Amino acid sequence: MIQQLATYATHANQSRGRHYPEECPTGGRSGYQRDRDRVIHSTAFRRLEYKTQVFVNHEGDLYRTRLTHSLEVGQVGRSIARQLGLDEDLVEAISLAHDLGHTPFGHAGQDALNACMGEYGGFEHNIQSLRVVDVLEIRYGDFTGLNLSFETREGILKHCSRSRAAKMGDVGQRFLDGTQATLEAQITNFADEIAYNNHDIDDGLRAGLIDLDDLCAGTLFGDIFREVQQRYPHAGGTVLRHETGRRLINLFITDLVEETRRRISGAGIETLDEVRRHPSPAASHSQEIGAAIRQLKQFLMQNLYRHPRVHRQAEKAKRIVHQLFGILFGDPALLPLKYQERLHCNGEDPHQRARVVADYVAGMTDRFAIAEYSRLFDPRDGI
Ligand code: MG
Repeated sequence: MIQQLATYATHANQSRGRHYPEECPTGGRSGYQRDRDRVIHSTAFRRLEYKTQVFVNHEGDLYRTRLTHSLEVGQVGRSIARQLGLDEDLVEAISLAHDLGHTPFGHAGQDALNACMGEYGGFEHNIQSLRVVDVLEIRYGDFTGLNLSFETREGILKHCSRSRAAKMGDVGQRFLDGTQATLEAQITNFADEIAYNNHDIDDGLRAGLIDLDDLCAGTLFGDIFREVQQRYPHAGGTVLRHETGRRLINLFITDLVEETRRRISGAGIETLDEVRRHPSPAASHSQEIGAAIRQLKQFLMQNLYRHPRVHRQAEKAKRIVHQLFGILFGDPALLPLKYQERLHCNGEDPHQRARVVADYVAGMTDRFAIAEYSRLFDPRDGI
């Protein structure tokens, strides 16, 4: 069935296009379908399988990785897009690309790399995701990067300070003039949040780091869990957890769709141009659900992300990233040849050297970073 897009959707045939004009067969695909396909075929996308979401990849095979997280964001995003008459392919392209710039070891890795890059312009995964698709993927004969459509690139850059935005070209402009991104980009941010809140609860419960009674006592999860228990009095813990999870995801999606619809019609938004010029993002949860989500996030912060076991792992991961960056920045001859070649074109500028080292470290999977650390520092790994 071909979906009829809403008038305020981002229509692929009105795209602001690609940086490098292309003449090649499209196979009947729209520009956003091609963007999604290019992301799926990229090297950075395959690496997401071995990058931490919250739990380090080797902790267990059942936990989310960056790859499964990105797929869940795409799934939630498509559900929302379809109900609002938005372009599902654009949502999926942004979803699958949104975490391509993540370092190994999740947020701990990013914090460490950002600290290492303090004097050299910092490191931010969201800007790095854009750098991956614009510069770092080398696959095509006519251009570097994936040459994605403007709207996909704009969606990947979900937040940005004004000072950085000034250096980001066309995709940074909206942060300077206070306009909004497409609704497809806006709902992908919510899909990201819906996905991680729910799967972090699921992984945290399974790992035994979150206490079910604490979770039920203080959050919306508890209200739904009790309903599920009444309906399935003989069900075991796994079924109760999943039945609660699916209802929670459904509730968040339905709330987002209804509130966004209300705001679109309340503001009389009919075109993409009006979406962009609206003083605030039209996509939103209701006040009530927005508050419940903030409460859940607070719970996760206190009970999961700051859990001593997660913290110990995060601190160790930070040391690995710090030391890798330090040794490679100090002696770039230790970098793989293809990274050294980039240094030769750029001379001895320490900013360029730091950026090349950051690109290399950020591109590592968890297990590659651990192996590279061991090769460079551990005498038991041979000399
Ligand atoms: Mg994400």
